[in-house]
Amino acid sequence: MRDVLIGLAAALIVILMWHQSGFIPLVLLAGLFLVLFRFSNLKTPRFNALGREKPGRKQIGFNQIGGQEVAKKELLEALDFVLKPQDISHMGIRPLKGVMLVGPPGTGKTLLAKAAAGYTDSSFLSVAGSEFIEMYAGVGAQRVRQLFSSCRSKARRENKKSAVLFIDEMDILGGKRGTHSSHLEYDQTLNQLLVEMDGLSGNDEINILVIGATNRPEALDSALLRPGRFDRIVQVDLPDLEGREQILKLHLKNKPVDEAVDLAKIARETFGFSGAHLESLANEAAILAMREKQTRILEKHILEAIDKVIMGEKLERKPGREELWRIAVHETGHALVSEAIKPGSISTVTITPRGKALGYIRQQPERDYYIYTGDHLQQQIAVLLGGAVSETLLLGNRSTGSAADFNQAVELAKRIIGAGLSSLGVVSIKDLPRGILHRSIQQIIGAQEQWVSAVLARQKELILEIAHYVLEKEKITGEILRQKISHRKEAC
Ligand code: ATP
Repeated sequence: MRDVLIGLAAALIVILMWHQSGFIPLVLLAGLFLVLFRFSNLKTPRFNALGREKPGRKQIGFNQIGGQEVAKKELLEALDFVLKPQDISHMGIRPLKGVMLVGPPGTGKTLLAKAAAGYTDSSFLSVAGSEFIEMYAGVGAQRVRQLFSSCRSKARRENKKSAVLFIDEMDILGGKRGTHSSHLEYDQTLNQLLVEMDGLSGNDEINILVIGATNRPEALDSALLRPGRFDRIVQVDLPDLEGREQILKLHLKNKPVDEAVDLAKIARETFGFSGAHLESLANEAAILAMREKQTRILEKHILEAIDKVIMGEKLERKPGREELWRIAVHETGHALVSEAIKPGSISTVTITPRGKALGYIRQQPERDYYIYTGDHLQQQIAVLLGGAVSETLLLGNRSTGSAADFNQAVELAKRIIGAGLSSLGVVSIKDLPRGILHRSIQQIIGAQEQWVSAVLARQKELILEIAHYVLEKEKITGEILRQKISHRKEAC
């Protein structure tokens, strides 16, 4: 809106000048500059300084951050440099000016920066890269200057000798120069940050440590990562199994959790969750328990909360009975293929619509995987095809409900080809003729479809039994599913 008004005002001035309206355009021009100046000052980011907004707020300690042992160790090592400035100058070591935390969203980068401030008894100031970027050249640079001086004055007010300046979304503020459309403004802002960082020295009255965070390190300008600026790059990854359990414990500590809850099992079921997901999971589980008027959080609340965090809130809109039956048959197909490949792999099958899904299965990996074999990827394709094959066998046709499964299957097939695990051998997907790529994808998926059809054709009765159960109860747990599978086997 502001930009439109300024544009209109500028156009008006030009028109008046064109019509030679004396000194009126000059007065207007002066007014426009005044407005611009006022806006640029008003829009100065409100730095959310820890402790300033809420005096006495509890500081974050490293022990309140679950997992991330490597990141914590690396950061602590770097922070010792800040704590012992005399030692490092005695040894002639260059003072540490910046640490870059790199990792996916919600993994605890902000927490680590806050803990760093607490550990070094520094004042803490946090901003996001996007707060600096304006359309007008010079505004961002002015804000960077202001930020460093705010940082110093805050530390002085708090009687601290050092300050931690946390800049989130560093890729916006420190993206590669010359790549943005309004690059003059971006470049000037980054240049100013580099100037400020170069000006930091270990002998300043207030030592400032800049901690940046990004989940797109490849987008950063190389000048930022040059030695003497962001000297340390600390990887903050998604938590592993042990880390997830620790984070769950931290976030459930202040909640009444039933003793029977097996947190190791919950950690196994939450592969790929970030710390933020796990915090949300603990919160949602408590909300579900409260809705059911329970005094304790039970395992079923946590399991349902996992579904909610992954898939979203339950939808009010319910498909008709015929569609529900199709969805039950479809999901049962996925589940039986998964159990055929890896018994014990299914955690839940449900036809409760959530987010974009009308039904889904949740698998429980027995451990975290970081690399996959060709067999594993083919098995994943087989599970994805189970839904459509089950529909074909039981209902005589397929539906659009399988489109997302097929897309994922194609992506997995491409992954197999790209990793040199297909019959094509080691190839470059981008240089492969489209026809050959297409045929190879068809071959991989076709082989799995054949296998899945054979497996499910032998279990038509079982699919019917389980799908009826799912239709009736909306979901089936992995345990009951496996009971039904083994009863059927015994009966045969
Ligand atoms: P973004 O990149 O989106 O800014 P981030 O990496 O900075 O995310 P944080 O803001 O530190 O993530 O984490 C968000 C919330 O998630 C925290 O307030 C905390 O509740 C929870 N959380 C994330 N990681 C952890 C962890 N390792 N231990 C405990 N809680 C965590």
